[in-house]
Amino acid sequence: MIRIGTGYDVHRLVPERKLILCGVEVPCELGLLGHSDADVAVHALMDAILGALAMGDIGKLFPDSDPQYKGADSMKLLAEVIRRMFRLGNLDLTIIAERPKLAKHIPAMRESLAAAFGCDISQVSVKATTEEGLGLAGAGIGSQAAVLLEK
Ligand code: MG
Repeated sequence: MIRIGTGYDVHRLVPERKLILCGVEVPCELGLLGHSDADVAVHALMDAILGALAMGDIGKLFPDSDPQYKGADSMKLLAEVIRRMFRLGNLDLTIIAERPKLAKHIPAMRESLAAAFGCDISQVSVKATTEEGLGLAGAGIGSQAAVLLEK
């Protein structure tokens, strides 16, 4: 059996926050605002996995009203989601950001995710794009994810 899922998330860029994407800290004068570490890429990815499993979304699993998730490391939450799933076929993640430039950080992001899944790096795609100044990205960073799970 195979299952597919998609996920989407956006967070606002603000001063005095770290910018963490796929568990990798990216140097930037701004970071993403959120109850957890606001790793928008991992949030979209978790929603894609939960979508493939028809298990709702991360808001249901890790409510932001719950103080235990304040400042939470999204990679730890991802590990919780991975425990619930079956085998990863592949994942494809797009990060939508006007800034900072992300290309040089993408290899570290792929390695970080492959380590979390315990899979080969060839199963993990991370891409980045801008919206040419026309969209949401600029005031924030968005991400969309697709996963294929195999049983
Ligand atoms: Mg989020």
